[in-house]
Amino acid sequence: MSRTVYCNGEFLPEEDAKVSIFDRGFLFADGVYEVTSVLNGKLIDFDGHAKRLERSLGELQMASPVTTEELLEIHRKLVAENNIEEGMIYLQITRGNPGDRDFAFPPSDTKPTIVLFTQTANLLHNPKVDQGMKVVSVEDQRWARRDIKTVQLLYPSLAKMAAKAAGADDAWMVEDGAVTEGSSNNAYIVKGGKIITRHLGNEILHGITRAAVLRFAKSAQMEVEERAFTLEEAKEADEAFVTSASTFVMPVVQIDDTPVGTGTPGSVALRLREIYLDEMQKAAV
Ligand code: PMP
Repeated sequence: MSRTVYCNGEFLPEEDAKVSIFDRGFLFADGVYEVTSVLNGKLIDFDGHAKRLERSLGELQMASPVTTEELLEIHRKLVAENNIEEGMIYLQITRGNPGDRDFAFPPSDTKPTIVLFTQTANLLHNPKVDQGMKVVSVEDQRWARRDIKTVQLLYPSLAKMAAKAAGADDAWMVEDGAVTEGSSNNAYIVKGGKIITRHLGNEILHGITRAAVLRFAKSAQMEVEERAFTLEEAKEADEAFVTSASTFVMPVVQIDDTPVGTGTPGSVALRLREIYLDEMQKAAV
């Protein structure tokens, strides 16, 4: 059945939503995005995603075509129109359509392009939670501003395909011997009860789920260390996991050919998943 999507101010059937071939998003990957999860028809951490969107736009000197209040209304209307109980809302804003191709930014009065659409997914009872994910390591060959959530996702896409080809679920990217993050998630290890995840910087996306999970871990008196960790350290860890808006907290049970800990989902990861889902569903809007 056709979805109702949002395109530049209009709610339309998906087949009627059109973007120009000159759009900067299409020609230059000149755009940013956000993915917000929906549970029981409500948005998880909308404020966190709206704030990061604002930051991504600011870093690229791009203006938002909508206010945060309007954005919330658009999200809510899409959830209602498409009867989304569980799934995601994808949002993309690009520098718009200058009417031709040119490396230089178009005049500042060029209207940004904004599109949003819904996806349904089984997020709460994702079968991967019980099995845990297998990851393979790949070299991190992305650009140096991974803190901006741009739509240039070709390298993460190649990394995901390399993982699939190796019979794994995802890739962990490694730079100078240290793990940066997963292809579309933040990476963590647990050693001696301590949760270790890479510190914030330009090398990783500042995950909205990461921020919430670390906050909950600290309030549950769990020890957290934000620093770079090596691939070797990860393989010798007691457990490993990833976080993202659509997988929440997901255990990792194997890295390359090495089982992590017992090779089964770890108790810290499962506990954090439970706390995260509990708290975030209470705060959903
Ligand atoms: N890192 C990367 C590279 C990602 O693509 C994502 C998900 N978009 C994340 C981390 C997790 O971020 P969030 O928790 O905000 O979904």
